[in-house]
Formats: sequence, C-alpha cells, structure tokens
Amino acid sequence: MASVSITRRGEQRLRNGHPWIYKSDVVQVDAAGGDTVAVVDSRGQHVGHALYSSRSEIALRLFTRGPQVPDLSIWRDRLRQAFDFRATLALDATACRLVHGEADLLPGLVVDRYGDYLVLQALSQTTDRMLPEITALLVELAAPAGILARNDPRVRLLEGLEQRVEVLHGTVPDTIEVREGRVYYDVDPYHGQKTGLFLDQRENRMAAARYARGRCLDAFSYNGGFALTLAPSCSEVLAVDISDQAVERIRANAARNGISNVEARAMNVFDELRELERRGETFDIIVLDPPAFAKNKSAIPKALSGYKEINLRALKLLPPGGFLITCSCSYNVSEAAFAEIVAAAAIDARADVAVVEKRMQGRDHPVLMTVPETYYLKCFILRKLA
Ligand code: SAH
Repeated sequence: MASVSITRRGEQRLRNGHPWIYKSDVVQVDAAGGDTVAVVDSRGQHVGHALYSSRSEIALRLFTRGPQVPDLSIWRDRLRQAFDFRATLALDATACRLVHGEADLLPGLVVDRYGDYLVLQALSQTTDRMLPEITALLVELAAPAGILARNDPRVRLLEGLEQRVEVLHGTVPDTIEVREGRVYYDVDPYHGQKTGLFLDQRENRMAAARYARGRCLDAFSYNGGFALTLAPSCSEVLAVDISDQAVERIRANAARNGISNVEARAMNVFDELRELERRGETFDIIVLDPPAFAKNKSAIPKALSGYKEINLRALKLLPPGGFLITCSCSYNVSEAAFAEIVAAAAIDARADVAVVEKRMQGRDHPVLMTVPETYYLKCFILRKLA
C-alpha cells in the first residue's frame, strides 16, 4: 500500500486531534496524489490512514486511526452518520448541509441538499478522484433526483484540480425552489454563491427575527436571506448588496413571498453606511454579514479595519434599544479577535453595547473541537443601550 512518513511534530499534531499534516512535516512519500495512504511515524510505527495530496500545503488528511485499511464501507458509514445526524436536527427547511468535511470525518467533501437535489464539492485530490464512488454512495443513501458537482471553488487550485461544474447524476434544473421557515427561495445551483445559498446563516436569520421591529437594514444581503426573514416583523427593510444579480434575486424572492416592504439597493455597503449617516437616517435593527474579509493571514490587519469601520458606522445608525446582528465568516479572525474589534467600534461610536446572544454557523455545519479551522462563522446579537 502507498505510504507517507511524517515528522515527530506531525505525530504531535495528530495526537492533539488535528487531522491535517502539512507538507513541511512530511518526510518521505511513496504515493501518488489522491491516494489513500498508510501514515508512518518517525519510529516507523503505523499511525493510521490518510488522504494524500501531492500539491496542497495540507499534504495529509487523517482518515482513520489504527491498522484497519479504510475501504468504501467506511465512506458509506460516515455518509450515513452525517445524514442521520441532520435528520435528528429537525430543521425547518428543505435545504441543509449534509456533509461538512472534516467535521463529519469526511475530509475534503461538502454535500448540500436543495430539495430533491444534492450539490457537492470535492475539495481534495482524493475526494475528486473518488467522485464516481461517492456519487454511487449518495445515490444509494439519499436517492436524489440529481447531483451537481460545484467544483469551482478557488481552493481546488491549491490541490492542482481544475474548476469545473458538472451534473454527476440525474438532471439538475437551473433553479430549485427551497424553503427556510416561512421564506421560499429560488436557488441557482450552477452559479449561486457557495452551492447556491448561505445555509450556514439559516439559524442566525431565524434568531435575528426574534428582535426584528421598526426599520431594518440588511447589509451584505446576497439574495435577501436576513431581509426576507425579518421583513414580516418590520415596518420596512433596506437590503444592500454590491452585486446587481444579488439585488435582482432579492426583488424576485420578495415578490415570490408576497413581501412588499423590502427595498433592495445595489451599493457598496461602506459607501451606503456613510451616506445613510450623512442623511441622519436610523434603523432599529441592522444586520452586517460581510464576505470573509480575511481570506488568508496576510489579509488580517486590513480585514480588522474593515470590520471595525462597518460596525462603528452601524452602531451610529442605531438608536438606544436598537439591535445589531454582526457576523464574521473569516476563520482567520477568531471569535475573541472579532469581539475585540466590535468592542473597539463601540468605544469609538460612544455606544454602550450589551451582548444578547453569541452564535455561530448552523448546527448542520458543526465544528470539530480540535480543528479551529472548522469554526469560521461568528455572529453576535448586540443591543445598544445608550
Ligand atoms: N447575508 C446573506 C449572505 C451574505 S454573503 C445571507 O444571509 O444569505 C456576502 C455578500 O456581500 C455577497 O452577496 C456579496 O455580493 C456582498 N458584498 C461583498 N462586498 C460588498 C460590499 N463592499 N458592499 C456590498 N455588498 C458586498
């Protein structure tokens, strides 16, 4: 069997529960990219089996510990466990994440359900090579009407894999209607961001709705997730997104749901917040859900100043008693660092702010305790006291 030996530092990482071994901790490779390999430690002892990438900085993703060679039945068992877990969540939605990579012990694989269809992403050389087998298992376990591979994320380039979108099974329509709570969305699985929707925010949208009233601002709205969920409890909602396509979808989704108090504007949020402040406008509830400002470590300082600016400006637009739902999906910015930057924004805005709820990505996107990288979405619900 193909094998890879690792350094003592690599062993230590595995012992600490982290499944990734970086290239710099690889000593010797007797394998081809995409192979499932035996992992050997510095004393020649067998540690377990891992998925090997010949290109990525993450050379090994541990798959099993111990001597047993993993076969397809392990993939089947783990997929089934991931599906069964989602079934226990009793989500009030027809779309959800079924497989969340490492956090389901299925490294490099994402599978989302949109109604009768599945949309998957193969993010490692091994899961890419195994797509025929994985497709067969998904058909066996979930019997979808169609499976789409949204293999266009940029991270695939780090694996030396091309960006490609293709139907792997059945047929997949251009739009799929899904429901979250009371809101219906038309989702474009071929071109929508991520796999079509920001499923990870579902439970935060529903939590935010508990505080919704008066005038609402949904900044970085995408196809209107927060705006549409909060609209029934608000007098009016302003949804802002820089993308014309997103704004068109907000309007179409609002019409689809018979919601008439949502105005959608194609604007840069940084400019729009400044303009709203200049005009002396106020909002009773504001949502800030920007894209990941820190896509890598070198982007952190700039990201922090971006987070600070939008939070500062939003806090100024809130009257006392108003709510701010503020999010960061940069895993390079920890919860503590994010809290610190929002606190700094509150100080500059001369606002006393209470934390009402600390939230994270939805339960169908679980976090692996020993893998900080799987905790990426932070969401604070804050109340401005004075
Ligand atoms: N809140 C959404 C998800 C937002 S994703 C939901 O619940 O579904 C982030 C969005 O920010 C994307 O739609 C992107 O088009 C938009 N965006 C990125 N930079 C922006 C900017 N400077 N101003 C306004 N929108 C921006």
